[in-house]
Amino acid sequence: MTRTYVFSRRRTWTRSTAATASISHDGRHAGRGGSGAVLGSKNIKAVAVRGTHRCEWAHPRELGELSRDLSARSFGPATAKYRELGTATNLLTLNRFGALPTRNFQRGTFEQAPALSPAELSAQYSRVRGSCVACTIGCEHIYDVDETGVRVEYESLFALGSLCGVGDSRAVLRASHRCDELGLDTISTGGTIAFAMECVERGLVDEPWLTFGSGDAVLTAIDLIARREGIGDLLAEGSRRAALAIGHDSLAFAPQVKGLEIPGYEPRALQTMALGFAVGTRGADHNRSGAYEVDFSDKVDRRHATLDSVGHAIETEDRSALMDSLILCKFLRGVFTDFYGEAADMLRLVTGWDVEATELRETARRIIAAKQQFNLLAGWTPEEDTLPERFLDTPLPGDPTAVLTSDNLRALVAEYHRQRGWTTSD
Ligand code: SF4
Repeated sequence: MTRTYVFSRRRTWTRSTAATASISHDGRHAGRGGSGAVLGSKNIKAVAVRGTHRCEWAHPRELGELSRDLSARSFGPATAKYRELGTATNLLTLNRFGALPTRNFQRGTFEQAPALSPAELSAQYSRVRGSCVACTIGCEHIYDVDETGVRVEYESLFALGSLCGVGDSRAVLRASHRCDELGLDTISTGGTIAFAMECVERGLVDEPWLTFGSGDAVLTAIDLIARREGIGDLLAEGSRRAALAIGHDSLAFAPQVKGLEIPGYEPRALQTMALGFAVGTRGADHNRSGAYEVDFSDKVDRRHATLDSVGHAIETEDRSALMDSLILCKFLRGVFTDFYGEAADMLRLVTGWDVEATELRETARRIIAAKQQFNLLAGWTPEEDTLPERFLDTPLPGDPTAVLTSDNLRALVAEYHRQRGWTTSD
C-alpha cells in the first residue's frame, strides 16, 4: 500500500513558473519537457509518497541471486567511467569527435573544453561521490564550489558551458547549481540562453550584456528566467516560443525539436542521433534515444547516415522505453549481454508473470506507438519530425565532411515511419 499526498497552494507563483521547470527530488531532477511547469499550472507544490507495506517478490531466492550477479557485473568496465569520473567525462570525448555543441551549435569543438574536464575540475575543487539509493555504480560527482556542493553532469556542463561559450568552470558550476535550486532544466535553460546570445550577436535582440562567453550573463539570465523579469519572461518560454516572438527567421537556429531543446550531441557529426532527435515523440531527447552510442560504434559512418542507420536508431529507442518502464538506470545498459532476456527474467522473478524476451520487445514497440498515438491526438503532423534549418544542407563549421542534407533526413524519417508500421509518411 502506498499513500500519496498532494500539496497545493493557491498562489500566483505557479503562473510565473518557466516552461522549462523540472520536478526535483533529493537533488535529482526530472528536467526534460517542463513537467514541473505542468504541476505548477495545477497549483501543485509538492507530492509526498509514504509506503506502508513491503512489496512481496514472487521468487525472492532466485531474485536475490540475480541481483547479486547484476551487482557484481555493475562493478565492471562497462560502468567504470561513470564511477571514476561521472558523465562529465563525455565532454572531452565529444570535443575530440567534433561533436560538442558550442556557441548555440555554431561549432562542434570548444577551445576551452579542457577547463571543464573532470581532471581540471578535480584539480580545482574537492570532490565527493554520491549515488541514488542502493546503487552500486555511484555516478554522482559533487564538487565543493565556495562551500556549496554542486552535482556535475555532462549535460549541464555542455548546456551552460560550451553552448554559451563559457569556459570559466566556477561560473558554469554556479549556473548549474542555480538551475538546480530554482528547478530549471539545465539543457533547456542553457539552450535558450545560447539562442538568445546568438540573437543578440545578430542584432535581433537588444540586450548587449547577453554575450557568448560571459558567465555573469548566464547567471543573470537564469535568475531573470526564474523570475520572468525583462528578457527572462520571453526566455522562460523556451527557444521555440522565443523564436516565434522574435521572428526574422530565428526559428532556423533555435536549438529545439518539437519545442524541446537539443541535448549535447551535435546532429551533423552524429547522424544516427540526428534521426533519434528528429523522431523523438517529446522532441530532442538523449534519454529517449541513445542513438549516439551507435554513432560511436563501428556499425555506422556517423557523418553519413544511411537507411541502415534506421534500425539501429529504433533499437536504442525501444531499449530506452523498456528500461524506463522497468525503472532501470540507463547506465546499466552496458552490463547486459541479452537485455530483453535478462529483463524478462527480472520481471518474472519480481512479479511472477510468465513473460519472455519476445513479449518485452513487442511491449517496447507498443510503448513507442502509444506515445506516437498521444502525439497524433494532440495534432502532430509528419513535418514535425525534422531538425531546425541550421543543421540541414550546410556543413558543420570546422568539419566540412559533416553534412546532413534535408533530402537524406526526410528519407531516414520516412524509413523510420515505415519500419515502425506507421502510415503517416510515404
Ligand atoms: S542509479 Fe544511475 S544515476 Fe543513480 S547513481 Fe547509480 S548510476 Fe548514477
